[in-house]
Amino acid sequence: MDWNLRHCARHGHATYAPDEPALRDRLHVTTPAGEAWRCLRCGTFAVGDPAGSGPADAAPEVPRGRLLRDRVIMRLLATERGFKALLLLLLGIGILRFRGQRNALEDAYQVDLPLLRPFAEQIGWNIDGSFLTRWIEESLGLSETALAWIAVAVFAYSALQAAEAIGLWAVKRWGEYLAVVATSVFLPLEIHELLNRVTVLRLLAFVVNVAAVVWLLWSKRLFGLRGGGAAYHAEHAEESLLTVERAAAQV
Ligand SMILES: [Zn+2]
Repeated sequence: MDWNLRHCARHGHATYAPDEPALRDRLHVTTPAGEAWRCLRCGTFAVGDPAGSGPADAAPEVPRGRLLRDRVIMRLLATERGFKALLLLLLGIGILRFRGQRNALEDAYQVDLPLLRPFAEQIGWNIDGSFLTRWIEESLGLSETALAWIAVAVFAYSALQAAEAIGLWAVKRWGEYLAVVATSVFLPLEIHELLNRVTVLRLLAFVVNVAAVVWLLWSKRLFGLRGGGAAYHAEHAEESLLTVERAAAQV
């Protein structure tokens, strides 16, 4: 799969007219259809005005090839984090609303459950021993302060997920570090959950998170791995078409 062409087809070519004449000549041709500029992403000449112009140093960084593919993966991760942040936000709001209406809910529970009991017995459902009943009773037994603290924790976790989503989507280095640290911190909890009971969802979440941490560490050369940030930026520059053309123009 050619990530460059795919990206250009969707978002248009990233053409640029540098001020430096030697470099300008290399990126520019005159065709019967008009002036054409070389796309800094896919390398083809596109007819029309350049998308940008100015000194070569001010040209936008155009992620290409592997870096472009990496960006797609990071945006998928960002989407997952963003979705989680939203769900946690709704959960937090739900807890606060439950906290406000607890008395009304408790009354309803005390009145409705006995009404439900004969029916449940008919279908062989032991209502008092069920997971749902226990969960409701535990929730009702929590103090208002405890519920407020749970809501605060859920909101904090939601904010963390949102920050990860923003950092990963914008392909920021702090976002990569935040994602690795924040995801790793919760891995022991996920292992504990899995040891308790294995469900498809838990297993899937665990596998995705471990893969994300390993991939980010390795591919983004975090914490000095594989040469660290310097090697990562060198790799970035090496992939840049403008760097290649500039080197060629100086020969
Ligand atoms: Zn292009």
